Amino acid sequence: MTEAKAHSSGFSILRDPRLSKGTAFTVEERRKYRLEGLLPPAVTNIELQAARRHTEIANLSDDLQKYLVLSDLQASNETLFYKVVMSDPATYLPLVYTPTVGEACQKFAHIFRDARGMFVPISARGRLREILGNWPEKDVRFIVVTDGERILGLGDLGDGGMGIPIGKLALYTACAGVPPQYCLPVVLDVGTNNQVLLDDPLYQGLRHSRVRGEEYMAFIDEFVDAVQQHYPKCCIQWEDFANINAVPILEHYRDKICTYNDDIQGTAGVALAGIFAALRITGQKITEQRFLFLGGGSAGTGIAELISQAMTMEGMDIAESRKRNALFDIHGLIVTSRTDLADFQKPFAQDWAPVSSFVEAVKALRPTGIIGVSTVPKLFTREVIEAKSAINERPIIFPYSNPTSRSECTAEEAYHWSDGRAVFASGSPFAPVEINGRKFIPGQGNNVYIFPAMGMAVFATEAARVTEEMFIVAAKAVAEQVTEENLAAGLIYPPQSRILDASLHVAERVAAYIFDKGLARVPPPGDIGALIRARAYRPVYPRS
Ligand code: NAD
Repeated sequence: MTEAKAHSSGFSILRDPRLSKGTAFTVEERRKYRLEGLLPPAVTNIELQAARRHTEIANLSDDLQKYLVLSDLQASNETLFYKVVMSDPATYLPLVYTPTVGEACQKFAHIFRDARGMFVPISARGRLREILGNWPEKDVRFIVVTDGERILGLGDLGDGGMGIPIGKLALYTACAGVPPQYCLPVVLDVGTNNQVLLDDPLYQGLRHSRVRGEEYMAFIDEFVDAVQQHYPKCCIQWEDFANINAVPILEHYRDKICTYNDDIQGTAGVALAGIFAALRITGQKITEQRFLFLGGGSAGTGIAELISQAMTMEGMDIAESRKRNALFDIHGLIVTSRTDLADFQKPFAQDWAPVSSFVEAVKALRPTGIIGVSTVPKLFTREVIEAKSAINERPIIFPYSNPTSRSECTAEEAYHWSDGRAVFASGSPFAPVEINGRKFIPGQGNNVYIFPAMGMAVFATEAARVTEEMFIVAAKAVAEQVTEENLAAGLIYPPQSRILDASLHVAERVAAYIFDKGLARVPPPGDIGALIRARAYRPVYPRS
């Protein structure tokens, strides 16, 4: 603790979430900082404090209540918040982030306590540099920003979308050690088209419909410029923008500043990680694969493109690798003769006659893997999975549509209909499945395996850019973290209980790539792993 802090009153130290230790202040500290009388006399330690919180939270029956207890803790004692979350990530990640954060965003105005992060309204155009200067930290390295238009699968939630940058940044810290003081959650408020919010007297955002077009882009531009002015080392991560804005924003800035979009690039990275791990089971190379996507939207084309790039890293021509990633959308197989294709679908169009049934497409193209990103449940029918299993010894079956109710098939269906031969992963979690006494543990293709580690690598190296290849490197590194024992049980992602170790490994690999490509803005260290570990946040109280 600094001299200045030492001389400030004990009362204000107790109310500073970064300085407070609550009842863990020692007898000496209590005397030194004039805390005596402000706390109950028994001195505890962080383990005991965390145990108290675990019990309190476990006794609550409602996940939103658990979310609120955790967010109050984050606002009052940040170290203890991370101690609790990091001690049991499998339990707490779904409470701090998806799925619980979705409900928190929907009810944002109704459960609002103290503001966290920055609310930047389009009405302040022309003054964004001044407004960003109100943030108290002088060195911000990571901004997660949303405009609230496409929050998870819940649509336009206006400035209630703020829950997403807050939750996501908590995961950067909890899962990969990005220090919280360098992180800033931002919501860009351009209005909302959600009439329920506009009619709600408690709604706290701008009360008009969404600003679009040139005025919107000029606002984004001014924001990026203001961030660059205040925080030249900052990476901007775009989150939950509607596609019409997400794609052009990423294209506009990706080669100019350090930036990425997790919905587009992180999603593709985690799917590719699943494929690399699946190949450890099938014993094949990526260049031997042929994928058929059910769904040719943003997730499908994003994943297909990253797989294609990964194939080209192994020496395959890009046009040939894109042909190995076929898309099937609501109008059938995407073939060159179709006249309704969007530009982003065209590179994947096949030189085939039109095919209107998915199972016929499976039989015709004989893919090694099928990936469901259609948003429509149950389209991986018994017939599809049996056809797939007749073609491949170990069919790769990834129903990635979220939430669980939209999954193209369940884990049980995939394992049963393939006689236990499916290499399976899904977008939403499924419970373990037992067939003839054999237990299968379905993996969940959760972006959390990629984005915190990417953030840590960028933070530790002060990377100037985030490239597509960095996501391929991250995907390979995630797949390396899956043990033989995990693979034997069908699990192709590392268990979430090991997320910190796995992420630090991934961050090290990505950092090595950043140094190798000359993208780092710090000198290369002798030991990159040691650099990552030294920069990683740990939930221990500051020494007095
Ligand atoms: P999107 O709306 O952009 O695309 C959906 C695609 O599915 C379109 O090409 C559409 O034509 C096609 N489709 C719809 N109905 C169909 C049908 N009956 N038969 C064949 N094709 C059909 O959606 P998106 O953003 O690409 O997301 C798709 C899904 O992927 C969502 O459910 C999302 O939750 C999931 N997703 C999962 C992850 C993850 O688990 N990590 C990440 C991103 C997206």
